[in-house]
Amino acid sequence: MITPSQLTAVAELSASFADGNVDITSRSNIQLRGIQTKDLSSLVHGLELAGFIPSPLHDRVRNIVASPFAGLGFGEILDTQAFVRELDRRLVADQVMAGLPPKFSFAIDGGGPWFGRDRDDLAIRAVNVDNTPLFHLAIGGTLSGFGVRVDRAVDCILESARMCVEISKELEMPARGKRIASVPRAVNRLLDALSGFLVTCPFPDGSSDVGDMPVGISPCERVGFVNLVPSVPLGRLTAEQTLSIASIAKRWDGDIRLAPWRGVVFGSVPESSISQITATLAAVGLSSDGKDGYRGVAACAGSTGCDASLADVRRDASLLARRLAGRCAQPGWTVNISGCEKQCAMRSGATAELIASSSGYSLRINGQFIASNCSLESAIDNVAACQAEIPIEVFS
Ligand code: SF4
Repeated sequence: MITPSQLTAVAELSASFADGNVDITSRSNIQLRGIQTKDLSSLVHGLELAGFIPSPLHDRVRNIVASPFAGLGFGEILDTQAFVRELDRRLVADQVMAGLPPKFSFAIDGGGPWFGRDRDDLAIRAVNVDNTPLFHLAIGGTLSGFGVRVDRAVDCILESARMCVEISKELEMPARGKRIASVPRAVNRLLDALSGFLVTCPFPDGSSDVGDMPVGISPCERVGFVNLVPSVPLGRLTAEQTLSIASIAKRWDGDIRLAPWRGVVFGSVPESSISQITATLAAVGLSSDGKDGYRGVAACAGSTGCDASLADVRRDASLLARRLAGRCAQPGWTVNISGCEKQCAMRSGATAELIASSSGYSLRINGQFIASNCSLESAIDNVAACQAEIPIEVFS
């Protein structure tokens, strides 16, 4: 959740002290790049003034991800906004929480579509049990089989985090959900400590992982209002685009959400103004119809942002998007393009995966190895054929 004035501040700070872009991360955070050391304190001061750093001590552990459609009437069992706010408020009020590892993350999932996490250290997902909502607890992506009552959910997740810190000291292991979930002694210790909170709970329906990127207009709970998801090519906005988004939200009193597919959601904007809003977005190069070729395409920082990259994968992803422009991608169709084997752009279950090497791309489509060392042109041809559902030749 971010206000128009905060988004304006980020755009202005990036234009003054960073590279002028605003990157949205897969945790729905914002990343600014290309900051000169001499400008760092001015930038941080500007972020503090805009209300982004309520507690410097806890800044790196306020990683709470929730559905960007929370409370916007998109098929959720629970509106998670109040849970997010309470968890954030209590995290920064607790000294112990500052001891969590910097990448420790929480997910609060209202149980609707378009949101699912398989990698957070601690996650709760709403399920309906006999018409009563419960939150199912997952540890490091593993469903526990236990749930917690809605009114005790924040207490439970905070206690879980505290126990992760304690168990990591006792067993000399990292305080990360995935590590704890993989050691039976550690996970049993955690579940024992939480026994006062937990009840048996059915597993949530469906996959917990969502790789798709929605684009376009969707219904909203308020009569006469809709939600709008514009395309954000490769998760990056220019300062001008960011200012435009902030001004739209301000003018039409919309709700801005940053999304874990590295995008933006305008919640609850007047349906009667939608053509004006989409025209304003188009004027700064943002499409709202999902046909700009970027739908489903994700790339890591690439050679312009990461020393390890073996290719300019963002440029290559843009060339792919240009090829795909004008088509409507199938929902769930996804491409990951990574600059090296580390695969930071990786989302599990991607339709196509391209990994740069020193002599081309290695390419997998639908989990099947297609080629190694293939040229960009050949990789683009294959991915475009896959999207058009044309059979692909497999190289041995
Ligand atoms: S995948 Fe490799 S090249 Fe890309 S950002 Fe990660 S480490 Fe850098």
